[in-house]
Amino acid sequence: MVNDQASTPPAEVVRLEGVRKGYRTPAGWVDALRGVDLGVARGTIQGVIGFSGSGKSTLVRCLARLEQPDAGRVLVGGDDLAVLDGDALREARRKIGMVFQSYNLLRSATVAENVALPLSLAGASAGEGRKRALEILRWVGLAERADSYPGQLSGGQRQRVAIARGLVARPELLLTDEPTSALDPETTATVLDLLRRVRDELGLTILLVTHEMSSVRALCDRVAVLDAGQVVEEGAARDVLLRPRSAAARRLLSPREAGPAWSPPAGSSAARLSLQFLGPVTGEPLLWEVGHRFGVTVNVLAGEIDRTTATPYGSFVVDVTGSGEALAGAVDHLRGRGVEVSRLEAA
Ligand code: ADP
Ligand code: MG
Repeated sequence: MVNDQASTPPAEVVRLEGVRKGYRTPAGWVDALRGVDLGVARGTIQGVIGFSGSGKSTLVRCLARLEQPDAGRVLVGGDDLAVLDGDALREARRKIGMVFQSYNLLRSATVAENVALPLSLAGASAGEGRKRALEILRWVGLAERADSYPGQLSGGQRQRVAIARGLVARPELLLTDEPTSALDPETTATVLDLLRRVRDELGLTILLVTHEMSSVRALCDRVAVLDAGQVVEEGAARDVLLRPRSAAARRLLSPREAGPAWSPPAGSSAARLSLQFLGPVTGEPLLWEVGHRFGVTVNVLAGEIDRTTATPYGSFVVDVTGSGEALAGAVDHLRGRGVEVSRLEAA
């Protein structure tokens, strides 16, 4: 037996320590990142969520060293990207693939040429690049579009091409900045499924930047909440979704209910509620149960259940009618079962 601890891959693929980045703008100095600390474990899908302007894209650009942070360490696979340059930086960057919201595909190049681009830039021959491009295009289900041009593809297909390009050089880490924000919900699901396969079948670590809680819910193992350039909350995705501690996470979860957890006032007799279920409770007849037990009427206006992910979830909009006391009992009961309840404005 050899003690080969030295060659054991680090449990963390990414570690950010005290990362700061500011921009000089005509309107003055903007602190985009104000001391970000974050670790990402190998083989996980780490979400980074925050409102527009919270610093998410700056974080991704610093991680890819498309931008030089003003201070802090950016460790990827043990190398500090903040201080490397030249060949060492190019080598370290090879561990990172990137996918952006806007695809960034070359319109005048074919799908296969686009996918092979990172290899051609690294000096691979055209034949070698095409072979590998076709291989990865087959894997994303787009082999038959290899000789099409990006303009001939749908948005979802273009994003799958962009993901193929992000994977072509066999990175360890895939950075994705709002990869689904330009897509409709159905196409979004396809792209999120593909990202899940990237982790499950290729074993990559993924950093998914998004402003959509639904993407975190569908895909992420862990999530960091970015607010005004700082990580204000980080934890297992299900914990943050069910019990958000930061004001930013609460607002991202239920944009219509920025305040503290709502409880029905004593005199009320009807409320329109948004209910979010996560985990095994999704399969239980909870709505029937509260109706029965508290004597309230529950009318489901909209809802969806997704059992395709490791953590099934349900999301419903319901009108609940009954005495104030019964309503309060029903809401408490649902919350006690781990359902996130927030009030919506009645239509
Ligand atoms: P997000 O991706 O979460 O929307 P960004 O990282 O794009 O956030 O932006 C964070 C802050 O930094 C914003 O105030 C934005 O205006 C500013 N910012 C981002 N990039 C630049 C830049 N290249 N030049 C000047 N200001 C920038
Ligand atoms: Mg952004």
